[in-house]
Parts: sequence; C-alpha cells; structure tokens
Amino acid sequence: IPVDPFDLVIFGGTGDLARRKILPGLYRRHLDGQMPDDARIIGAARGDMDTDGYRTFVESAVREFVSKKKCNPKVLKSFLERLRFVQLDATGKQGWTDLKDVVRQDIVQAFYFSVGPSLFGPIAERLHTHGIAGPTARIVVEKPFGHDEASARALNASLAKHFDEYQIYRIDHYLGKETVQNLMALRFGNMLFEPLWNAQYVDHIQITVAETVGVEGRGSYYDKSGAMRDMVQNHLMQLLCLTAMEPPSKFEPNAVRDEKLKIIRALDPVATDDIVRGQYRGNDDVASYLEDAETGASTTESFVAMKLQISNWRWNGTPFYLRTGKRMRGRMSEIVVRFKEPPHSIFDEDTGQSANELSIRLQPNEGMDLKVTIKEPGLGGMRLIDVPLDMTFADALGEEAADAPDAYERLIMDVIRGNQTLFMRGDEVEAAWAWTDPIIAGWQDRGDKPKLYDPFSTGPEEALMLLHKDGRRWREIR
Ligand code: NAD
Repeated sequence: IPVDPFDLVIFGGTGDLARRKILPGLYRRHLDGQMPDDARIIGAARGDMDTDGYRTFVESAVREFVSKKKCNPKVLKSFLERLRFVQLDATGKQGWTDLKDVVRQDIVQAFYFSVGPSLFGPIAERLHTHGIAGPTARIVVEKPFGHDEASARALNASLAKHFDEYQIYRIDHYLGKETVQNLMALRFGNMLFEPLWNAQYVDHIQITVAETVGVEGRGSYYDKSGAMRDMVQNHLMQLLCLTAMEPPSKFEPNAVRDEKLKIIRALDPVATDDIVRGQYRGNDDVASYLEDAETGASTTESFVAMKLQISNWRWNGTPFYLRTGKRMRGRMSEIVVRFKEPPHSIFDEDTGQSANELSIRLQPNEGMDLKVTIKEPGLGGMRLIDVPLDMTFADALGEEAADAPDAYERLIMDVIRGNQTLFMRGDEVEAAWAWTDPIIAGWQDRGDKPKLYDPFSTGPEEALMLLHKDGRRWREIR
C-alpha cells in the first residue's frame, strides 16, 4: 500500500549506514511500488558533492547491497530521479538555506539523523531556526541514544526543545524485524500461548544475540561502549520487554510502550554473581579484542551474560538469561521460552520425556519452532521423543517471506505513516539506562576485568556456569 507523498532528508546521507541500509532499503520500497510519484529523498552531509554525484553514489550502493535480481535498470533510474543532495554543515551555517529551498512544507516531512549523537541537538535546532521543519515533521534518531542516563536525558532535552515526543522516532532496528512483530502476533493473536506465558508454566527464558564478527574497524567506537551499552541496554532489553510485557489494551504506540516501560522498571538489580563479562582472545587466524581495539590494556567487554529477575506477579521466580557477544561460534539471535515439565509423569521414568521449548529465531532463517513430545513411532513400547514443529518463514510462506522487507525499510515506512509503535519512547530509553548504569559503575568501582574466551566459542566458561548452577543449560549456538 503506497504511503503519502513525502520529503525524507537523510543527514549523514553519505555515511556507512545510509549506504548499506537506508538507501538500499528505500530502493526496495520504490521497487515494490510503495512510494508515490511525489516522494523525494534528500541526502544532506558535509563533503563536496552535488545531486549528480549523489545519484552516482546511491546507484553504486544499491548495486552493492540489493540483490542483482532486483536491480532493474529502469526502476533504478526512476529511483535515482527522486534524489537530491544538499551539502551542509550540521554545526555551522553552510547549506541550511539551500535545504530550506529544497524541502517542501505541504507534505509529510521526515528527517533521518544518521549521524553521531553529538549532532542531534545542533541539527534539531537548525531545522527549527531556519523554519525547515513544519509542525508535523518527524525526526528519526539512530543509536547510540546516549552513553548513560544523564546523557540520554540531555539528548532528549535537546530534541524536546524543538520537537514534541510524537514527532521523535528513536530507532532500534531489532524492532523492525519480522520475527519480533511475530512474537506479538504469536502471544496476543493465539489462545494457545498467553495462558501459559507466566511463572507458573515457564521455567525460564533465554535471549541470545551472538555474532561471529569481531570489532575490527569499529574498535575505537566500541571500546568506549562495550557489549552492555552497545547491545544489552537497547536491543536485548527491547526483546526482553516484548517477551515479558503484559498484553497492551491495543496494538497502539503508547499502549505498547507503557507496557514495555513497566518491565524495565520491574527489573531487579543484578547480583554480581549473576553477570559474566568476557573479552575474546585471538588465534592464528583472527586478532584478539585488544589487537582489534588498538587500545593496549582495555577492560571493555565484548561478551556479557546475565541472569535477570522481573519483580511482578507474572514472572516472579522465572529467570531471564541474556547473553550477547562478538566472535562467537555462530551468528544467531533467538528468544527461547522453556516451559516446565508436566507436574506428574504417567510414563516410565526412562522414556526421555522433556519440557516444551518455543524458540523464536531472529536470525538466521527467521522463524519459530516448538519442541513437543510425542511417542516414538514403532513397536518399542511407550517411548517418548521430542520433535520440533518447525515454522521457518521462508519454508512456510515461500517467496513472500524470502522477500520480506528489511528492518530498516519497514521502520522508515512506519515513520512516513506516523506510526511510533516500533520505536522507543524517551522515558523507555532513560529507564533502560537507569537500570544499566549501576551495573557498569559497579564494574568500574571494583576494577572488574573481563574473562577471556576463545574466538568462535560460546564465551567464557563462567557463562555456562551461570545456568549450570541453576540446573539449566544454554541452547546451543549453531
Ligand atoms: P559515518 O561516519 O559513515 O557517516 C557519517 C555521516 O555524517 C557522513 O555522511 C558525514 O558526511 C556526515 N557528517 C558528519 N559530520 C557532519 C557535519 N558536521 N555536518 C554534516 N554532516 C556531517 O557514520 P555511520 O556509520 O553512517 O553512522 C551514522 C550514525 O548511525 C551513527 O550515530 C552510528 O552510531 C549509527 N549507526 C550506524 C550503524 C552502521 O552500521 N554504520 C549501525 C547502527 C547505528
């Protein structure tokens, strides 16, 4: 369904994120016929470039990051015609009147701040003082949204001077993933799961976001951040909230975000023993974290695992285990809900019966599977085995799923439609930092050093122990 005509300005339109994600995503929306004829995309950045140069830049980005099958020359040409470029300085005077001349007022206006957070305030101010952004303009801001609670509050305040909360879209691309939205469809669109979705029936929940890449190339940025700030405070916390929240009264932005916020506020402080930090070693093939980060003696973590408790009626006594790391054995993001075993077994004890497990995979192969117990076929008596009810979207839904839009393009179209449901509200981000800050401060006060782990492993031994000591184990990283 086509969206309303719009002008989308991408500040940082020549940057890495614009090149790899935003512009190829917009091309796919154009190819899909979702953009009306009157929609335009305006790159804005410093650097010597004009509209022709920008079109060449975008053409090569599309050719590099969109599958060949979708790079139709005629479609690409018509996409490039939507593009304009304005050279400007986000912190100075240059280019702002040019931008004002280009951006239309009587149309949906969206301003994507694909730049570092230190530029959020200056850009918001200039959009206002130059009279570029109209009263219903939307702004999209990228991560990292602050470094701690104080800086997040300061960023919120600098945006709030010129924009109301309903105009601000804080992006977390995990929320744009098909499976994440499916988690909500699964929970609130079926009668099968929600009645069991609580401490009485759920033994524990695991959330894993594992990457095989190291921090190469991004070392100087990452070293100031670490896994806790870069991944847990935002992406894993969002996944946790959507998994644990109460049913909102409506699938509507503030109803959903109110429920997510309640979860963050109900999180217990994490005990020192319930959190493990790690840093990857090198081997003959890959560099260690310290070599990648080029900082000598850094104690920044590239891995973190923790056990969390949510203090509310629904989850009292059901732990949530979170882990994320770089240079892990596989690239895998998933949420696993492990149900309790039946209270009484009517079968012989050695039949191999175990608990149901629902796994929601964000990558690779977005989909879900549910482990159920059935009788082993044959004449061997009443022996039980676990089989997965597998629903890999690409298999179950064919072409439609394989061609599902990428998270960024979906979220940008939500911005144009004015739907904030899948974006973080200011108070949510602040609350997530307020929970994160004492953990990081504790590490600093204690001079905590991360445990070293081998590259392409499952992280430090202590992370395995975190579950072992509770009589549980992590799902395998494949
Ligand atoms: P980048 O360094 O590749 O690009 C920065 C862009 O900002 C360039 O277009 C540059 O011209 C422009 N810019 C910088 N200073 C400017 C100024 N004073 N005036 C005008 N333009 C200016 O950065 P990136 O990797 O594209 O990241 C952009 C933002 O997105 C950052 O906040 C980053 O943390 C975030 N982000 C990036 C990625 C990624 O994969 N690259 C992923 C998630 C979030």
